[in-house]
Amino acid sequence: MVIKKDVIVVGGGGAGANIARLLSDQLDPSLHTLTLINARPFTVFLPATVRMAVTDEGNLEEQILIPFDRLLSKRLGEVRVGKVVAIEEDRPGAGGHVVLAGGDKLHYDVLVLTPGTALDGPLAYPDTKEETLAFIKEWRRKFRDANHIVMAGGGPVNIELAGEIKEYWPEKKVTIVQSRKLPLHPSYPDRFRSRVEKECKARGIEFVFEDYLDQEVPKDGAVTTRSGKRLVVDMVVVSRGGTPSTGFIKNFDSSIVTERGFVRTHPSLEVITHPGIFCAGDVVDNEERNGLGKYERHAAVVIANVLDHLNGRALSRTYKARSSVDTITLTLGKSGGVAFSRRFGGTIWGNWVVWFRISRTLYVPQARRRMGY
Ligand SMILES: Cc1cc2nc3c(=O)[nH]c(=O)nc-3n(C[C@H](O)[C@H](O)[C@H](O)COP(=O)(O)OP(=O)(O)OC[C@H]3O[C@@H](n4cnc5c(N)ncnc54)[C@H](O)[C@@H]3O)c2cc1C
Repeated sequence: MVIKKDVIVVGGGGAGANIARLLSDQLDPSLHTLTLINARPFTVFLPATVRMAVTDEGNLEEQILIPFDRLLSKRLGEVRVGKVVAIEEDRPGAGGHVVLAGGDKLHYDVLVLTPGTALDGPLAYPDTKEETLAFIKEWRRKFRDANHIVMAGGGPVNIELAGEIKEYWPEKKVTIVQSRKLPLHPSYPDRFRSRVEKECKARGIEFVFEDYLDQEVPKDGAVTTRSGKRLVVDMVVVSRGGTPSTGFIKNFDSSIVTERGFVRTHPSLEVITHPGIFCAGDVVDNEERNGLGKYERHAAVVIANVLDHLNGRALSRTYKARSSVDTITLTLGKSGGVAFSRRFGGTIWGNWVVWFRISRTLYVPQARRRMGY
């Protein structure tokens, strides 16, 4: 009797869902099992969440909280809803078990870790469908009821949220408090950051630069920044970009997780010192910016190497981070936004291109297709 080898993918988001789908096509059902474990009974297509957070127009929650029932091929694979809280390795390279909240243990010979980022503010979704729908409804109510909204941090999520708020309520006052002299991180050139500022201001979004907002709840209808500036507000939004969901990996072996929570891998995307455990997506420790586009390449490398490992071969594929071609697109409501690519010495695209390529649909049809819908 053949003892099948068990492959487990933890996390069914931008990276993990894709990897699980491809593995379900490529593994041999007579030799392998495949289990995708995800904390929620659906994947969340993150690029469209900023619009879903502020408006019920188009009922995006029906489009972008996508179930897993059509993801895997009929020949192989099952989806288990649950949160992995621990990894118990028999010994490096010999497989082990993952432990779910609630105590169930699932055996693995090969493990692929793609737990992504835990987001904050209006994107910090709970784990059940019912709670998530109530959470979305409550945030929409808060945005609708507030007249002056202040945001702590001038990163991509707050900028896109501000753009969506202005799209649906141009009359509301939206202020972003940003620690730096321009929006975004200084790793982007000033000319792109200035363009983002200009496009935001054209939509009526205001900035307080070189200041910090620590106060998350208004007092007597106002908040005070670190430098003493008083802002009359109804609501504060804090979204700092999130943190890697790698607590359970750190508890397993703290030496494989960096101080900032990213997982150390070899160029094969195999986790250092743990043969047979692979990692992909946002939590990989490399210099690239997060982005779904590059997770196709993560998937290709991980799948080839998973097959090599299962067949007892040396790992054949390596991943080369390409931060030099990083692209960032910021949608500012449905009408457009700004995009930047490091290619060709740094190229900026404006409203028309962003509108045409992204802001109209936010890639929702493509995301659904990838999940089998
Ligand atoms: C507002 C916003 C806009 C974005 N826009 C773009 C864009 O325009 N273009 C682009 O390329 N990228 C964009 N991104 C980034 C992109 O969405 C992410 O890089 C991508 O989703 C990350 O994929 P991932 O699989 O690593 O993590 P995620 O997609 O976050 O998936 C992780 C999954 O793992 C699950 N999970 C976590 N911990 C556990 C556990 N312990 N047990 C079980 N399951 C677990 C989670 O529930 C989740 O389903 C955007 C991100 C945000 C937040």
